[in-house]
Order: sequence, then C-alpha cells, then structure tokens
Amino acid sequence: GEWLGLLGGGQLGRMFCHAAQALGYRVMVLDPAAEGPAADVADKHIKADYDDKAGLIKLAEHTRAVTTEFENVPADSLAYLASQLRVTPGARAVEVVQDRIAEKTFVAGLGVPVAPHRAVRVAADLDTAPANLFPGILKVARLGYDGKGQARVKTKEEAVAAFKSFEEVPCVLEAMLDLKEELSVIMARGLNGECAVFPVARNVHHEGILAVTVVDNFVSEFAKPATDAAIAIADGLDYVGVLCVEFFVLQDGQLLVNEIAPRPHNSGHYTMNACATSQFEQQARVMAGMPLGSTELFAPVVMLNVLGDVWYPGSGDLQVEPDWAAVLKLPRTSLHLYGKAEARRARKMGHINCTGATLADAVDTANHIVHLLKLPVQASVM
Ligand code: ATP
Ligand code: MG
Ligand code: MG
Repeated sequence: GEWLGLLGGGQLGRMFCHAAQALGYRVMVLDPAAEGPAADVADKHIKADYDDKAGLIKLAEHTRAVTTEFENVPADSLAYLASQLRVTPGARAVEVVQDRIAEKTFVAGLGVPVAPHRAVRVAADLDTAPANLFPGILKVARLGYDGKGQARVKTKEEAVAAFKSFEEVPCVLEAMLDLKEELSVIMARGLNGECAVFPVARNVHHEGILAVTVVDNFVSEFAKPATDAAIAIADGLDYVGVLCVEFFVLQDGQLLVNEIAPRPHNSGHYTMNACATSQFEQQARVMAGMPLGSTELFAPVVMLNVLGDVWYPGSGDLQVEPDWAAVLKLPRTSLHLYGKAEARRARKMGHINCTGATLADAVDTANHIVHLLKLPVQASVM
C-alpha cells in the first residue's frame, strides 16, 4: 500500500495511524521518542527530532503526503517537506496558530472577536496593561497545552512574578472571563477549499484540561455563529486538513474564539463512535486527496476523558487498574486507551464514548461511568 507520513508521536497520532491503516495506507511516523502511542502502532518509525534533516528527507522520499498531530512542529520543517510533497496543514497556517499572539491578531483581523488581551514581550508591557485584564490569565505564547504554561493572576505584581517564572518568554495576558459555556468546532477543509464541519461540541474543562464533551445536532444556540466563524478562519488561513476552533460563550452572550488547533482535537474524539466519518479518517482522506467524508451524527454522544488520576483511587501512590469490565458492560459504550506505559496524574490515558437513542440516555450512561471511575465532572443535557 501507499505510505502517509506523520510528525508527532502522541495519542492523536496513534488514532490517525489506525484510521489511515483502515483505509489501506501504511504510516511512517517521525518522532524523537523511542516508543509511544503513535510509534507503537506505526508501520515504520523514524526516531529523529522534528528538525532532523536526514529524518525529514527519509519521510519525504517514502511517503505521499505528510501531516502533523501537534502544533509545535517547526514551521521550517513543514516548509521543507512542502517543497518535496503534499503537507497538510501547511507551514503558514501552523505558524500562525502555534503562537497565541499571532493567532489572536489573525482571528481579530478577520473580524471574529477574541478575548481581551495584551501581548507581553517584556515586563514593561505589564505596567501599561489596562485594568480590565485583571484578574487575568498569563499564558506563554508558544508550547502550552492542557493548561500548562498558564498562571492565573489577580494583580500586575502577580503577573510580573508569573512572567518571571516563565523565564520571560513571550506571553499573552488575557482577561479572566465569566464563561457560560465552551464550544468547539471540528472541521476539515480539502485541497479544493471544500469544507466539512462536524456537529458543534459543548465542552467542560476541569483544572485546565478537557473532561467532558457533549454533542447532539443542537447543543447550543451559538452553534451556527461558531460554525460560520470556524469556516471563516479556515478559509482565511487557506487551511488544508483537519482543525479545531475552541470558543468561549460569555454570560452576556458574546461568542469569542479561544484558540485554534491545527489538527484533530480531543473534543472531536466523539466522532469515532458517533459520526459517519471520524476526524482521523477525515485527516487521512484530505492527505490522500480523497473526497471528504460525511460528518453526519448518527447518535447523541458524550465523551469522557480518562486521565491517569483514575489509576490512583486513594490519595497516595498506589496504582490500581480501573474496572474496565464494569465500563464495557454498559450499553453503547466504547473504550479507547492509548497504550501509554505509565499512568500519571493529569496525563491523558484514554477516553470513553457513550452514545444514546436520546442525549438524555447518553448522559445517563456517561454519568454511570463518572460514578464508577470517580471522574471529576458530570455530564449534563444542558
Ligand atoms: P488545550 O489543551 O486546549 O490546547 P491550552 O493549554 O491551550 O489547552 P486554553 O485553551 O488556553 O489552554 O485554556 C484551557 C481552559 O482554561 C479553557 O478551555 C478554559 O476552560 C480556561 N480558560 C482559558 N482562558 C480563559 C479565560 N481567558 N477566561 C476564563 N477561562 C479561561
Ligand atoms: Mg491550546
Ligand atoms: Mg484549549
């Protein structure tokens, strides 16, 4: 079969491999770690840094198209690969969204609102920060994920201390917003600019990490404007591939873009069991130049994230394998584990999708599991 290439070695890459393999492709993974969720299931693993020229050349020689599973790939590596073969998404789009300052500037430039913020490149930028940004969140502009590289700050003094603790790398200070709900839009944009948008997801985070996603054909009155904004962003970036746009809905009814992920997203894992096409199959289809798949939702669905905490039922370090049999006994429940060697607290280990004849049914099943595994957040219909 033909080969597709992947930069990155995490769980998103693993699920991409599975989807591409189901379509008959072989996958070559370039990742510096000796093993990991994606490398373990790849048809071939090139163990090399993301900017390793020899590794990139090998990937380019043997594959038909290359994709990425995380946003921090050096844009130069994508640009080099793009001089040799199809790369989705392209270097320019990734470059914009991997930097929170460039990302917010770009989105705002399209006329789509973002959170009130200020770029912080030197400590003096905090002296002149307007009062409406406090209390706020200082976020490193690059390389943050799962709430890492973020500090909640009540005052300028706290912001300066946090900036120093981040070793004064470029940051953004955002106002702490009063959120009514969080939504995300997962979509694909094909080589010809055609868009396929999955149903809008409603997300609940816990300690900066996604905990629960709820999806039905209508989860929010903001689904339509969020979808329109996501398409405008994908078009504006001339994006090719799968992307996710995260949104905040404020108590006063404003819809803001939080951030963009240039890849499949944790809040799109529901597509694996509830849609005609999964977000990972869609990623492979785009790369292969195949038609985009249907994004139709077959059933209301709740996705529960399974973090390493679930392996530690007590307060100490005693590790206990969760009772998967009890989970799998429940109807319309699918368990996805990423094969990570070690369960650490706050580490994403897997997820569970529960579909239902109605959303209320899916929520009931999910909350049964929340109780069984002592997960931190309950699912809800509203
Ligand atoms: P991801 O894993 O999604 O990439 P991240 O580390 O990039 O996460 P953000 O998406 O910026 O982090 O923030 C994580 C979560 O923290 C948000 O989904 C939201 O729940 C909360 N949050 C972030 N920024 C704000 C804000 N300005 N006001 C209120 N809550 C916020
Ligand atoms: Mg992020
Ligand atoms: Mg986020």
